[in-house]
Amino acid sequence: MIIYDLACTAGHRFEACLGSMFDPNPDCGCGASTSRVPSRLNLGGAANAGPGRDDMPTTWHGTGQGDPATLKAWHGAMTKRERLEERYPELAGDRRPILAHEGAFAGRPLRAGDDLVPTVAKAAFGKEES
Ligand SMILES: [Zn+2]
Repeated sequence: MIIYDLACTAGHRFEACLGSMFDPNPDCGCGASTSRVPSRLNLGGAANAGPGRDDMPTTWHGTGQGDPATLKAWHGAMTKRERLEERYPELAGDRRPILAHEGAFAGRPLRAGDDLVPTVAKAAFGKEES
């Protein structure tokens, strides 16, 4: 079954379930013939994941000098984000501690758990150790 959006020549719009894409369009309730029209998009932002950890303020000034309402709003948003990341771990990203991020590791930080020899070889010489 495929759900199509249909519009009749009188301007009525409705959905109809058809067995296949080759089935003829059903007539409208008013008796007029119909044609298939593109489905409407939902642009309401229903899939917005909200602010992430990188959006969180990291300075005293960013919290409005410790403004209780700002802190409470961020605490609520991050609690919600944490629950979302528990259900969808791919949203959490790589959260392992960064051990080195300067010099040779500026482009790709060294993280806890990285295999040290190939990572250092790639950072220092630009290629994998073989
Ligand atoms: Zn109609």
